Amino acid sequence: MNRNPRYDILFEPVRIGPVEAPNRFYQTPHALGTGNAMPHTRAAMREVRAEGGWGVVNTGYCSIHPSSDDTPLPYCRLWDDKDVKVHALMVDAVHKHGALAGVELWHGGSGVGNHMTREAPLSASGVARHSTYPGWMSLQNPRSMDSKDIRELRHWYVEAARRAQSAGFDVVYIYAGMGYGPYEFLLPWLNKRTDEYGGSLENRVRLLRETLEAAKDAIGRTCAVAVRFSSDELLEVPGRDHPSQAHEIVALLAEIPDLWDVKSSDWTVETASARFSEQAAQEPLNSFVKPLTSKPVVGVGRFTSPDEMVRQVRSGILDFIGAARPSIADPFLPKKIDEGREDEIRECIGCNICVSAYHDGVPVRCTQNPTMGEEWRRGWHPERIPAGDPAKRVLVVGAGPAGLECARALGQRGFKVTLAEARDELGGRVTLESALPGLATWARVRDYRTHAIQTMANVDVYRESMLTAQDVLDLGCDHAVIATGASWSRKVLGTRGFPTDELEGDAVYTPDDILNGTVVDSPVVIYDFDHYYMGSCLAELLRRQGHEVVIVTPANAVSAWTFMNNERTYIRERMIELGIEVELECLVTDLVNGGLQLTSIYRGGDAATRECGSLVVTGARHPNDQLLRELTADVNRTTNAGIVSVHGIGDCRAPGAIVHAVHAGHECARTIEDGAHRPVAWERASI
Ligand code: ADP
Ligand code: SF4
Repeated sequence: MNRNPRYDILFEPVRIGPVEAPNRFYQTPHALGTGNAMPHTRAAMREVRAEGGWGVVNTGYCSIHPSSDDTPLPYCRLWDDKDVKVHALMVDAVHKHGALAGVELWHGGSGVGNHMTREAPLSASGVARHSTYPGWMSLQNPRSMDSKDIRELRHWYVEAARRAQSAGFDVVYIYAGMGYGPYEFLLPWLNKRTDEYGGSLENRVRLLRETLEAAKDAIGRTCAVAVRFSSDELLEVPGRDHPSQAHEIVALLAEIPDLWDVKSSDWTVETASARFSEQAAQEPLNSFVKPLTSKPVVGVGRFTSPDEMVRQVRSGILDFIGAARPSIADPFLPKKIDEGREDEIRECIGCNICVSAYHDGVPVRCTQNPTMGEEWRRGWHPERIPAGDPAKRVLVVGAGPAGLECARALGQRGFKVTLAEARDELGGRVTLESALPGLATWARVRDYRTHAIQTMANVDVYRESMLTAQDVLDLGCDHAVIATGASWSRKVLGTRGFPTDELEGDAVYTPDDILNGTVVDSPVVIYDFDHYYMGSCLAELLRRQGHEVVIVTPANAVSAWTFMNNERTYIRERMIELGIEVELECLVTDLVNGGLQLTSIYRGGDAATRECGSLVVTGARHPNDQLLRELTADVNRTTNAGIVSVHGIGDCRAPGAIVHAVHAGHECARTIEDGAHRPVAWERASI
């Protein structure tokens, strides 16, 4: 198919100083969870984006010196010449597809703990940041930089820029955002210096200006030197000749960098989930830049709609469509637009599982794209998959995320697939959960797959087909895949911290009851020891329906796990906004005569009774594995029916997040002939 001419503008080349990007699709620097320790994994994860049409592909934050050490988080580094080789691997992989390769040179300043290198963190004026945030703070305060430190910092940037050039990078960033290094010098509340690097705005900008100029002198003939700048905090500080100090800084440095990459100073804002932000939500933070500079501007905004991308360019907001998450969910997004296949885009759902993987210190994974992180070690490609035997028939039972992904990928492999679903609607849990407040985008998990399946003549879908084990045997197939999901349980936590007994009572419900429309009485108590989104989403739903709602949880925060996907603060704010009461660090131990008994998780803590019209236990899920167990109980029975293998995938095997179900469905489809035990390549440090 041909590209829609409406989108031609997205495919115009754009000059960035001495280099030229082939189009406007720009994978901005984003952490990948690989660091330098996994160079092959990293190269393959970046390469696939270049292959998919992203014109510029960047590394994540890349430390220039041991005084910028983010251990245990997996950051990259260019500390000395020995670090060059691992980057060259990625650069070559990206260049193979005609894209530019960029590196984000980073000094963390006081924003790092230096846990591994044990160097005192450097800062403009010794102000300890994060001191209200125990999860991030270090026990050692940063030290103030003297003039020798400043000279050295500039020198480290230049040395790292030279190494980046020798690795083959085309674009070299100076990172001046998110509280790091040179950015701290810009902020009057962190920069209290009285020398030529503090005080007036011209002085506070000096370090960044000198660093950019020094980098340009060193490598600017062949490499573009870009700046990454956080605008939001300084947009709130009134300027002298412009509306804000953010404007002033851009005006002062306007033509020095070859590219402006503008973003929030707060990672939870930059990566706000779809539950709490819309596409293009960063516009107020970056739209002021273009009128102040002739250099190209890039910004992010979870862009998945090509029409919105065109609007960003045509209305003079951005020159490049920056993306981290949309490029993770669909590395081939640009190619699909280029080939007139927009309806095949696997749109990011904004769930931030990718963010949580980085916090976990593992290669980024994605709910929508099960191949993310598996490109090198398993050899998975997001668009290509080895052909299977078209004569072989596979029956998939259950059309939730696991069954849908399995059926889609099996169909792509060419098998003859039958997908049977008990309900009249496909999608399983994502169909139900996408009706919760803020989760509408989650339906994209279903829609991408049902759209693909509809185009496949070799995949038949049967709705309202609740299959028994006998049905499976009678239908006949070579392989049976069971993807029958999981159900929430009424079990509550015992004192040893795992679910024990179900709470009995007419007014005890599970999330399944609420999702399926059960009407409950106020006050509603949501007992949440799942710690992810479900408890707070149900609270919001029921509160908006007019109920009095309280969340009780043994954790010390509502939806405590969502610290990992950057949602926790937003969730707490939403609870406050809606007047949802929160009772932390409590166990629900009994329900008698409409009264709920709560016990502190601490020895010697208080016990209390509270009024409860309905209790929604949001804790454990148990697998719906009866069909799987029946079919695997007697191998002779299935063998006699001609079934070579039976596979359980997704929640019916091990209840988890949607990302697990999609991955399990994909893995099963790739390995159906020989089981899911293909060798995986592990990266090893070479000594
Ligand atoms: P997962 O996340 O593992 O994909 P879901 O709970 O989202 O699990 O989806 C499971 C799907 O399986 C649901 O749509 C459910 O209706 C369907 N299902 C469960 N049991 C059967 C069965 N015996 N026959 C057909 N469909 C079933
Ligand atoms: Fe988007 Fe979720 Fe994938 Fe991250 S994990 S890229 S937010 S779909």
